[in-house]
Amino acid sequence: MGELYIDGEWTRAVAGGRREVVNPYDASVVQTVDEADATDVDRAVRAARRAFDEGEWANTSTRHRADLLLRVHDLLLRDKEEIARTETLDTGKTLAESRFDVEDVANAFRYFAELAGKDGGRVVDVGPDVLSRVVYQPVGVCALIAPWNYPLLQASWKVAPALAAGNTFVLKPSETTPLTTIAMIRLIEEAGAPPGVANLVLGSGATVGAALTGHPEVDLVSFTGGLATGRTIMAAAAEGPKTVALELGGKNPNIVFEDAHFDAAVDYALDAAFLHAGQVCSAGSRLLVQEALYDRFVDSLAQRARAIRLGNGMEEGTESGPLSSAEHREKVERHIAAAREEGARLVTGGTRPDDPALSSGFFLLPTIFADCDRSMGIVQEEVFGPVVTVERFRTEDEAVELANGTRYGLAGGVWTSDASRAQRVAQRLRHGTVWINDFHPYVPQAEWGGFGRSGVGRELGPTGLREYQEAKHIYQNLAPAPSGWFKG
Ligand code: NAD
Repeated sequence: MGELYIDGEWTRAVAGGRREVVNPYDASVVQTVDEADATDVDRAVRAARRAFDEGEWANTSTRHRADLLLRVHDLLLRDKEEIARTETLDTGKTLAESRFDVEDVANAFRYFAELAGKDGGRVVDVGPDVLSRVVYQPVGVCALIAPWNYPLLQASWKVAPALAAGNTFVLKPSETTPLTTIAMIRLIEEAGAPPGVANLVLGSGATVGAALTGHPEVDLVSFTGGLATGRTIMAAAAEGPKTVALELGGKNPNIVFEDAHFDAAVDYALDAAFLHAGQVCSAGSRLLVQEALYDRFVDSLAQRARAIRLGNGMEEGTESGPLSSAEHREKVERHIAAAREEGARLVTGGTRPDDPALSSGFFLLPTIFADCDRSMGIVQEEVFGPVVTVERFRTEDEAVELANGTRYGLAGGVWTSDASRAQRVAQRLRHGTVWINDFHPYVPQAEWGGFGRSGVGRELGPTGLREYQEAKHIYQNLAPAPSGWFKG
């Protein structure tokens, strides 16, 4: 039995490829899994095609599909602890975070179960002799590609609505973090998904991902990952053309006004920047602090950042884990070196920890650069690590201008006790989510996605289901008679 799931069977990669999955805490091998190639992708896409075109799934009642999603929800909660432990071994994040993730994943399944069939389309009032309806139907075969930072969560935001809408899919998790995705597909199988509806391929982006996005039998590609990959995927999809949804990176401003609740703003700035070692697409990696508060704020933040307990995510008391891989840590270190050259002031961190207990993992100290300005690369580029930049501003207009001075537009935070200002600023920010006096929460009922370079389309919310549907107009003439248009 292999780790690829194609046409209702667990199967091995045809060419026999294998890959080691590494624990970023200590570089040990957690498990070895199948590594697919284009032949396996072709098998999986054809299975999904057959299940869509010839199977029952696309035409089952929405109640039936919703029931399957609710069973997956229940099974996820049944296996929550085991899945959370696997996610921690695979990503290095703390067990507490992984437990939250599994609950959020289950909630996504429940939300889309509840949404399925809620919106049955609409009747368009054309006149008494016409019945004109708009109905929503599944798009077809979906290629779903997920990243490594929230492996299961990001996959579930695609899988749950794709199933709710009646599509079939081929899912590819990141090659570095496939383990909980394998577990989720097992639960979808246990919940009773018919063969070919849910398919799983594992392997590299360059081989498996590219074969999937370029496959002529795929109707829709939904991708979460980096900007460069997003561009490649969009170009590959143009050949179809296929429907494309992209959830890309962010450089998310967190604006603190001088009337903010100081302790809460510091606490959340820490959380915004350093949760999951900053490997969060919506990380508050760009802090904007009003002048009167600036020095005190930077001092408090640095003091708190130095106290963050790095360690093994599996152990109680660990507050932050390592970066996801040796290569990724090197990339973040290059950003840090460039920031120093640009003249950003290093307040704390910037190096690997000197604790020998952490030396085999991919750790980096929480890092703060102050006195930054918007022209610096470290302020504009997504670092995707435990690095936050701090800029100073004087007025509300300046804060908005700085916060919008990025080509990304995923999320942002506003800290103030002035409710009118909070709403004014939220209205003006060119970012897909704005938090006021908070940072990071998202709910399945509300859309998630980015302006600008942060993506195309939305996940979650009613729009997150719509992405997986085609609108069809059915127009019936109830009183057919010759039109008389041509006279001959
Ligand atoms: P990545 O782009 O390197 O990889 C993402 C996925 O794409 C992986 O499964 C990878 O194997 C695959 N892939 C790579 N090359 C491919 C190709 N040519 N064709 C098809 N698939 C290919 O991203 P990552 O490093 O795994 O994830 C980090 C990035 O994801 C960050 O930029 C982060 O901001 C972003 N992200 C965004 C969101 C969001 O909701 N907007 C959420 C999480 C992560």
